[in-house]
Amino acid sequence: MTFPKPPNAPEKNIPDYDMVDESDACPKCGQRDIDRLVWIDDDRVECQSCGTVYKPGEQKGGNHANDEA
Ligand SMILES: [Zn+2]
Repeated sequence: MTFPKPPNAPEKNIPDYDMVDESDACPKCGQRDIDRLVWIDDDRVECQSCGTVYKPGEQKGGNHANDEA
């Protein structure tokens, strides 16, 4: 007898909903915890871990392909 799969995925498969995208992480310390990255105006985020202020997604400035595996 085969048991059906449970309807809920294992918890390890949930997305990082409280982590920002890698391209938006702190360029200095790599902080990605959304609770540690505070918007200070429309463009800039302040990292509460190291105090760096930066523009998310701009530090790489470029033509990156989607993602390398
Ligand atoms: Zn930082």
